[in-house]
Amino acid sequence: MSETRIYLDNAATTRISDNVFEAMLPWLKEGYGNASSLYSLGRKSAIALNKARSLCADVLGCESREIFFTSGGTESDNTAVFSAAKAGLSAGKRHIITSAAEHHAILKPLEQLEKEGFRITRLPVHENGIVRPDDLEAALTDETALVTVMTANNEVGTVQPFEELAGICRSRNVVFHTDAVQAFGNLRINVREQNVDMLSLSGHKIHAQKGVGLLYVRDGLPFYPLLSGGAQQGGKRAGTENIAGIVGLAEAMRYAAENVDTKNARLLPLRERLFNEIGRLAGVRINGDRERRLACNANFSFAGHEGENLVLQLDLRGIAVSSGSACASGSLDPSHVLTAMGLTHDEARSSIRVSMSEYTTSEDIDEFIKAIRTLIN
Ligand SMILES: *Cc1c(COP(=O)(O)O)cnc(C)c1O
Repeated sequence: MSETRIYLDNAATTRISDNVFEAMLPWLKEGYGNASSLYSLGRKSAIALNKARSLCADVLGCESREIFFTSGGTESDNTAVFSAAKAGLSAGKRHIITSAAEHHAILKPLEQLEKEGFRITRLPVHENGIVRPDDLEAALTDETALVTVMTANNEVGTVQPFEELAGICRSRNVVFHTDAVQAFGNLRINVREQNVDMLSLSGHKIHAQKGVGLLYVRDGLPFYPLLSGGAQQGGKRAGTENIAGIVGLAEAMRYAAENVDTKNARLLPLRERLFNEIGRLAGVRINGDRERRLACNANFSFAGHEGENLVLQLDLRGIAVSSGSACASGSLDPSHVLTAMGLTHDEARSSIRVSMSEYTTSEDIDEFIKAIRTLIN
């Protein structure tokens, strides 16, 4: 196997940063106590857990008691959907609104609820990948139990008008959840100011560990746990807490929120260089809105090429990118996000996603552009 020298697949996962690693280490070694234990080793873990929770709450603009740690973005999304559905059922509401471009961690639970009798509205994302607030207004009914629309998309990086969508939901008294797994660290998030009722985050997309994440649930919102069996986290999420992972997540969130502007200022010109240099090659199309997207994301289709093949050819040159989303690769189905934006199956299958992080350098981008030019000529 060739060695990966240039990592441009940060929307799939990120490396653990040094500051996160350092923060985690003591809790992987000597600080192994169970946070529910009464003796000092356990109490130390409980203190670390509380500190991490309060740091996460500060970063998101909420209270500690509104934060639940989970095993990642998937669990947070599933919990939000099933909890809101249960609350809806007990209020006689069986309608849920989402978008056609959500992550499967939202879409699959909704398919299950659909089989159980819920009506699901999937808002179109149009050719630019963005939901229109008017479409949401038109879809809302008195039966609507939940609106779940992601903050930013994992494949094309398009940023949804989530504040506006959240505002509409708040004024109609409908629960609004947003999957901010890709957005956090790239956009400013404040759940109170932005009228968000529930929000999902994942550690490994922001330089913390895989297998840890959180769900913010606004105070007063009816909440039904996904997991039961222990009294941890106020009975809202059973299971012994992953202290090292949680401490790392809090450190990753602190760092990401503090550095969002400097990171974007550095990555935006790199993204524009990608658009300018690759976008003007024959047969190339830029997928997703050109402006209203994360600074770290570029997505292209290369007419007449297979995305998967380009990924493998780039890998031989030590460059890691992805075709479609990592979760969807391995299957022959084209990306549901790209087809929802009106791409044909061939166009969708010829796509490549480039996703950068603060470790991405200008030289990485130069080398990627050079390699792509060679491959498609
Ligand atoms: C990665 C991702 C998830 C899933 O998060 P995990 O921590 O890998 O379970 C959910 N939503 C979006 C938008 C993602 O990018």
